Amino acid sequence: MNAPVAQDTLHFSVSQMKAWLMCPKKFEYRYIVGAEPAFVPMPLAFGSAFHLALAHHYQWLMRGEPAPVDEVRQRFVDAMTLAKNGPVPLQEDEDGTGFDAALVKGLQMLDVTLTHPSAQPAKVLGVEVPFTVDLYDATSGEVLDEKLKGVIDLVLEEEGHRVLVEHKTSAKKYSLDQLVFDTQLSGYAFAAEQLKWGEVGLRFSVTTKTKVPAVQVEDVRRDDGDMSDFLKTALGVLTAIDAGVSFPVRGWACKSCPYRALCESER
Ligand code: SF4
Repeated sequence: MNAPVAQDTLHFSVSQMKAWLMCPKKFEYRYIVGAEPAFVPMPLAFGSAFHLALAHHYQWLMRGEPAPVDEVRQRFVDAMTLAKNGPVPLQEDEDGTGFDAALVKGLQMLDVTLTHPSAQPAKVLGVEVPFTVDLYDATSGEVLDEKLKGVIDLVLEEEGHRVLVEHKTSAKKYSLDQLVFDTQLSGYAFAAEQLKWGEVGLRFSVTTKTKVPAVQVEDVRRDDGDMSDFLKTALGVLTAIDAGVSFPVRGWACKSCPYRALCESER
């Protein structure tokens, strides 16, 4: 199988898998055609800037030093400013939130996150930890050409085990369904298994964009059935991409789709 999922090598990420499942047409524009996006969605820039700031905080902790809060906050501001001044225009948030309001909200969310007890872990093992592992057919055991590639936001050590943490920013707290079925942590769990990391913990840390931001920390589990589902979904998506399957999935996500004009023109 030779799905054109990346220009350089045959790598496949959980984000790409989720993107294809959301809208194969959008996936095609972004990853196969390489179409120019009309804008950068504000939530995308916001989430990236928030991740960068948190990564800075945890990099300090990993070196055994307290993170300077002003520096962490500045990281967020700098990343947002870079996105605003980039070659592709920044789109306002769906609820009409402009750049200045997003900055205020982001800093408020950062303050809440950094003062939460979970932001002072006993031991940080890694920040933005990259991995590349084999993918295989769960039924036949055949190893696929494409490898699973990703980056784990944060790796902690607790009671002698690694705990893999995924940071999220979200309009509201994660529902039970999101916690149970989100494939990002299934991907982390699969990678940990392939890397022979032994027993690992899996954790979501969600900071809400609500009027008063809140931090939701949830430990979740992924069992053999989840691993099997993950591999079957990855194989299914890769098979569809390889066969050139593409179709638009119109819905709420079209409002913030940077390829909407192109997509509409092809109707
Ligand atoms: S506009 Fe909607 S249907 Fe078209 S590519 Fe974007 S998300 Fe998909």
